[in-house]
Amino acid sequence: MKIIWIKLKTLRFAWYVFLIIITFYLSLILNYFFQISPSSKNISTSSLHSKIVTIGIDPGHGGIDSGTHYQRLYEKDLNLILSLKLAEMLCSQGYRVVLTRETDCLLTPYAHYKYKGHPYKSDDLQQRLIKLEAAKVDIIISIHLNWSEFRFRRGPIVFYSENSLLSQKIAQEIQDQFNQVQPYRKLTHSGDYYLLNHATLPIVLIELGYLSNQDERYLLQREAYQKKLLQAIINGLKKISLD
Ligand SMILES: [Zn+2]
Repeated sequence: MKIIWIKLKTLRFAWYVFLIIITFYLSLILNYFFQISPSSKNISTSSLHSKIVTIGIDPGHGGIDSGTHYQRLYEKDLNLILSLKLAEMLCSQGYRVVLTRETDCLLTPYAHYKYKGHPYKSDDLQQRLIKLEAAKVDIIISIHLNWSEFRFRRGPIVFYSENSLLSQKIAQEIQDQFNQVQPYRKLTHSGDYYLLNHATLPIVLIELGYLSNQDERYLLQREAYQKKLLQAIINGLKKISLD
């Protein structure tokens, strides 16, 4: 009786060992074919997010809001031209791009009524942020042009959000690139702008130059100078790691 009991015990033990070995090899096979291991998933996700992949471009102003202007040269129009070119260059270099506008418009329905006193401007800016945040972009670049009563002032300036260290870092990298490709060296600034204050994503606002300066106004409309500035933005972005 005792011998039978011991044999049964041995058999049960052998059966457990057999089950453990089978489970182990099955999990190895499943991992190999379906990559179901949670650790391998984590590795691929973190490496995917270490670089900027999707860029939100916001061409400043539009519609009834022209921004600054020199005679019939309106900031809103040049902002759009420069933004579309930046989008094209980014796409050809492997980035995904989302634009807040691709035509001469505002994103708020209130602008059509031209209702005096209605805060259409803040509603428009809020809509821009909603659009880019819904698209889950990695970073927002808002494109603008500057104006000063001091006509000698010139050179591109990058503004960052005080709420985000990454925004400050991106601004610095892009400003460094601008300072290398044109002689008017500038510092980055934190800016009290609606977009910078309200964005929940890393954001920079770029004033690409002064429409009030005659030489810069001329250059900003020239293809070669535009491409030089826009490539400087892309080169700055390439130096950023999101980790
Ligand atoms: Zn502007």
